[in-house]
Amino acid sequence: MKTQYRHTKIIFTLGPATESEEVLEELIRSGADICRLNMAHATNEWCEQMAERVKKVGERVGKDIALMMDVKGPEIRTSKIEGVWELMVGEKLDIMMRGNGESKGGVRSISVNYPEMTEAVKEGDVILVDSGLVHLKVLEKKPDYIRTEVVIGGKLGSKRHINLPGIRVNLPALTEQDKEHIKIGAKNGMAFFALSFVREAKDIEELKQYLKDCNSNARVIAKIEDQCGLKNLDAIIEASDGVMVARGDLGVECPFEQIPIIQKMTVEKCILYGKPVIVATHLLESMTYAPVPTRAEVSDVAQAIYEQTDAVMLSGETSVGKYPVQCVETIKKVVAHVESIIPAKHNEGPLILSGKNKMLRSAVVLAQEIGNTGIMVFTRRGESIQKLSSLRPTRCPLYVFTDDHLLSVQLRLLWGVEPFYIKFFKDRNQTIEEAVKLLKERQYVIENDYLIVLTNILVSRKSIDTIQLRKVE
Ligand code: PEP
Repeated sequence: MKTQYRHTKIIFTLGPATESEEVLEELIRSGADICRLNMAHATNEWCEQMAERVKKVGERVGKDIALMMDVKGPEIRTSKIEGVWELMVGEKLDIMMRGNGESKGGVRSISVNYPEMTEAVKEGDVILVDSGLVHLKVLEKKPDYIRTEVVIGGKLGSKRHINLPGIRVNLPALTEQDKEHIKIGAKNGMAFFALSFVREAKDIEELKQYLKDCNSNARVIAKIEDQCGLKNLDAIIEASDGVMVARGDLGVECPFEQIPIIQKMTVEKCILYGKPVIVATHLLESMTYAPVPTRAEVSDVAQAIYEQTDAVMLSGETSVGKYPVQCVETIKKVVAHVESIIPAKHNEGPLILSGKNKMLRSAVVLAQEIGNTGIMVFTRRGESIQKLSSLRPTRCPLYVFTDDHLLSVQLRLLWGVEPFYIKFFKDRNQTIEEAVKLLKERQYVIENDYLIVLTNILVSRKSIDTIQLRKVE
């Protein structure tokens, strides 16, 4: 059996550093599974152009990777300002609710896109600007502005993100601009939409309804980025098709020392619910400028793999970094090593309730007892695949065959799954034989290897679920 299969998937963020056909090709050949388009800084035109390019390069390489559009969601941002300001500790700064900041009595001011901010904060609260680089303490509130004092100074540019830790922001889950982006994404074949700052299950339901209206069957990933999302985590996991531990904003919205525990707990919960989970941000931050990672970064990536996240996600490292391909190669190396030392085992944890799910577990037990073997599954809707993947059968690749192209790329997110888009024959045995042939051609298996096949067969016109043991000829 091919030993180089990988259980943990790799997502990269597209940007100036990676948008050329040449670099995209290198990334896909290196093993990237999903390409993320971050709409916080993108236009519809860019999105259309990139979606087409990624598909074209994927076809050339012979690997269709999934596209994930990351929409901005309810974000507070500062206004545009002239140049970059240096904010000094002790300096006063006014945050205006309307208009563009004119100064009052020599105090500089900026405005924000959140008119209700005066009601949201109270005296003594700390407002964080630009991923927490600048801290502003609320001194006094007026109906149309908030007077603050700079407690941690730094540079302030235009349109910087504002975090209000622990405060529920009363902005709609989907802004009008998000909707415009989603429409374009739906038209351009996005396999996933990731929604930023999901606060409750309702936010996900709203996006799902909007996708229906746009005739999209894309899956929805809930980005957990603040305390409100964490409070409602179980309901959000249930409502969504997957979750992202968005450590960038989480580390600003929550005390940073809590991040490792939040990550571990979220990964465990998602596995239990049978939903995919992504660990995102700052995995290889230093590689934005350097060709090798720090030892601490390697340990961080390894920890996510030990926790058995479905995927890890690169952000700035691949969107603007100098070494995007090396980043993917680095993750691959760490994955290969860590996964090779985890012994063959599986989870007993996930909710194994139905007979069908118990059968999936039996297939895993059989595969692991035989050793050096994978499980083949045939699916049109992919429902049981998530359950199978959430059993986390280490050392046991899950070869999933489907005749639905969108599903085949969506399956790229799942831990351990190698998806194949194939034609299904009327004769199920012919479909299985063709699939085994494909695995052999692509050197996933060799003669005399065993394969466990999960499929239903027709007996006297009845469909019966079966587990088969087949030897490759
Ligand atoms: C994050 O905050 O970790 C994240 C992935 O979100 P964004 O990059 O959209 O801020």
